[in-house]
Amino acid sequence: MTNHPNYGRIDGHIVMIGFGSIGKGTLPLIQRHFDYDPDKLSVIDPNPASAEFLAEQGITHHQVALTPDNYRDILAERFPDGKGFCVNLSVDTSSLDLMKFCREIGVLYIDTVVEPWAGFYFDTTDNAERTNYALRQTVRDEKAANPGGTTAVSCCGANPGMVSWFVKEGLMTLSRDLGRDDAMPTDRAGWGKLMQNLGVKGVHIAERDTQARAKPRPRDVFVNTWSVEGFIAEGFQPAELGWGTHEKWMPETAHKYDVGCQSAIWFERPGAITRVHTWCPTPGPQFGFLVTHNESVSIADYFTVGDAANPTFRPTCHYAYHPCDDAVLSLKEMFGSGQQQQVHEILDVDEIIEGIDELGVLLYGHEKNALWFGSRLSNAETKTLAPYQNATGLQVTSAVLAGMVWALENPDAGIVETDEMDHARCLEVQKPYLGPVEAHYTDWTPLDNRWEHFPEDLDHSDPWQFRNVLAT
Ligand code: NAD
Repeated sequence: MTNHPNYGRIDGHIVMIGFGSIGKGTLPLIQRHFDYDPDKLSVIDPNPASAEFLAEQGITHHQVALTPDNYRDILAERFPDGKGFCVNLSVDTSSLDLMKFCREIGVLYIDTVVEPWAGFYFDTTDNAERTNYALRQTVRDEKAANPGGTTAVSCCGANPGMVSWFVKEGLMTLSRDLGRDDAMPTDRAGWGKLMQNLGVKGVHIAERDTQARAKPRPRDVFVNTWSVEGFIAEGFQPAELGWGTHEKWMPETAHKYDVGCQSAIWFERPGAITRVHTWCPTPGPQFGFLVTHNESVSIADYFTVGDAANPTFRPTCHYAYHPCDDAVLSLKEMFGSGQQQQVHEILDVDEIIEGIDELGVLLYGHEKNALWFGSRLSNAETKTLAPYQNATGLQVTSAVLAGMVWALENPDAGIVETDEMDHARCLEVQKPYLGPVEAHYTDWTPLDNRWEHFPEDLDHSDPWQFRNVLAT
């Protein structure tokens, strides 16, 4: 890519909070695609690791950790003229507090996850409070209490984020392939009706990461293709999923909600050791982990038809994640030993010798059985597209870019999730960075490829019941 489209000018300051794998990968996209005053771009991150890199780029580095006590003062100082863009790509900072403050001072805001302040994930003892449902609801409550105003884009990475745009693109693809002539819906009610009319029962966020380096994973090291801290935190949260109206059975340890959008349930079990049967183009059938994610709750909520407590239609929706093989081994070691590894490594773009991140949505239960729609970006292609990141990183950072463009074009949209944004515009911005974006149909169902030597208690009346998806 040599001709980089310019998406306009960001007036005021740009403050990046967090400069880990995603922050470092987002920087060149901001530099490429926006006009801004270079001396008004700065980074807040307590980690000294990037100090030299940022100094070479002439970017001010505030080596400090944001805390509940200091964030208002620090951000007020970083945005002296009450204009600009806050790009939050950190761990251990409260997305809600940062977003509220940015809106208060009229600064655009984006993040990739509803992150809490440090300590939340492991110090909170009530599992219901540790769910993404609970975290997301705090942002939805803020949106309801203070509608409109300065745009703050919540959860705009690959997933949560881009996959919400894939769901819509996948539905339009399915509609065309079924020979229907559905017009593109223009509002939430229309999208819910379209999914219902197409006969979609649910959505797996179906991912297979095959990126690998030559060096075998050393013992006592957690290796991943993105934030190890972030993955451990979400992996220890309870398994959680959007709960569809077609489901007839629920695991014994499942809990429902009677507050909020009521689109999801959670289990008394960590997501990173809860396996589901799923499907991706490269491996075909595979196990994925039912790691909780914001999009499981938000997609199920967005496509609900009817009353929240008693809907006429709602899709089941959950993550079905097969991380890179080194991360699978790392998880096994961590849960087996009951101890977190102290050494964390993120696979660097230059040490990866093979592999792709295949991340899409599997829309299932309809007349054509199942459609996987997503990005199959290789690490090799990533190197030709943008610096400082692997394939996983670029799927996230290019979604951040798309979200920033949308926010600049829609500066008074209030708090939004990616389900509520113009998916066509966002994908138009993002697609040049996604490698092959493909649609694949499959005849596979969760009743296939089972080990018949050990009969299981399955529901043969409907292959797409969650009872059949959840691995025993
Ligand atoms: P990382 O661990 O590589 O980097 C996180 C950075 O945050 C670190 O440099 C750390 O020093 C900094 N940080 C820690 N505490 C801070 C504080 N109090 N104030 C300011 N900075 C602080 O993580 P990453 O891979 O870059 O991921 C960043 C965030 O993006 C995480 O929250 C992660 O969950 C999220 N993420 C979202 C997606 C998605 O698709 N939606 C994908 C990957 C990562």
